[in-house]
Amino acid sequence: MSQDKPTILVTGGAGYIGSHAVKALQRAGYGVVVLDNLVYGHRDIVEEVLKVELVVGDTSDRPFLDRLFSTHHIDAVMHFSAYAYVGESVTDPAKYYRNNVIGTLTLLEAMMAASVKKFVFSSTCATYGVPNIVPIPEDHPQDPINPYGATKLMVERILADFDPAYDFKSVCFRYFNAAGADPDGLLGEDHNPETHLIPLVLMAALGKRDAISIFGTDYPTPDGTCIRDYIHVSDLADAHILGLEYLLGGGNSTAFNLGNGLGFSVKEVIDAAREITGREIKVIECDRRPGDPPALVGSSDKARTILGWQPQYPDIKDILSHAWKWHQKRHG
Ligand code: UDP
Repeated sequence: MSQDKPTILVTGGAGYIGSHAVKALQRAGYGVVVLDNLVYGHRDIVEEVLKVELVVGDTSDRPFLDRLFSTHHIDAVMHFSAYAYVGESVTDPAKYYRNNVIGTLTLLEAMMAASVKKFVFSSTCATYGVPNIVPIPEDHPQDPINPYGATKLMVERILADFDPAYDFKSVCFRYFNAAGADPDGLLGEDHNPETHLIPLVLMAALGKRDAISIFGTDYPTPDGTCIRDYIHVSDLADAHILGLEYLLGGGNSTAFNLGNGLGFSVKEVIDAAREITGREIKVIECDRRPGDPPALVGSSDKARTILGWQPQYPDIKDILSHAWKWHQKRHG
């Protein structure tokens, strides 16, 4: 395809959110190169569905990165690749600090050596810890309660220091709970192992799992289960295009929450999934999962005001029905 727009390196482009961002970049006319180590990503999604160049390698491998930047003209980087299992980060934090912090620092240094100084970073609401106000604004204190959130916060701090020192510009997107699937049905969520609520609920609806476990029914919430702000993955992808264009247009380094500002409890998500799928979904009430704050709901007013971001699919039923279409196709 002939294209005069910038070329974006998308790390983790073979993963869930990264693949949706690649699709959004393509639609907006950007050149795309995907970097993925394929530990959790899917080669077939990049090569057969998205049909973009896939470079297989690791963000911790500096000589490899130097070769990549010397053989490709890259204008900016969107960095999705990270380990993102909250529970595993509690039991194996070294894995998370090594990959998410050291891997990202190595990538940033390779970028600077190649004079690539625009960076869109996947951060998380897990950097806030247990909020003292909801919806959470961006200037809320960041005090993560699990190592996953701590790794993302460390990268945010690195980026904050890189701007004045090196004129390195970044946008940090603090996602609330990414969910749903490409409305066209081409892409979706396919983690292995799967630990996230919505895909597990839909696997139970498909009969691929016997039941869904509810982690904790004694939280200080109306029905005792955790409340989260579920945001459609395609809306996240659209925000990344806006964040990229903000940086390419000379915007200053900053952070934005990305959520709908609407909270749904685990039980409410399961009830909505029963309605969307028309299937029986058995539940098992279990103990709390370590590292889970009771309620996380974000204020995204800043992204709406500064970036003009407008989520297209804020309704949990759209989020679930797009995910259901994908799960039936991929796993049915
Ligand atoms: N959850 C649950 N059962 C599961 C998976 C998740 O009850 O099998 C709960 C989890 O404790 C949290 C919410 O669902 O309160 C969302 O969890 P998920 O892993 O999807 O995302 P996270 O909030 O950890 O990013």
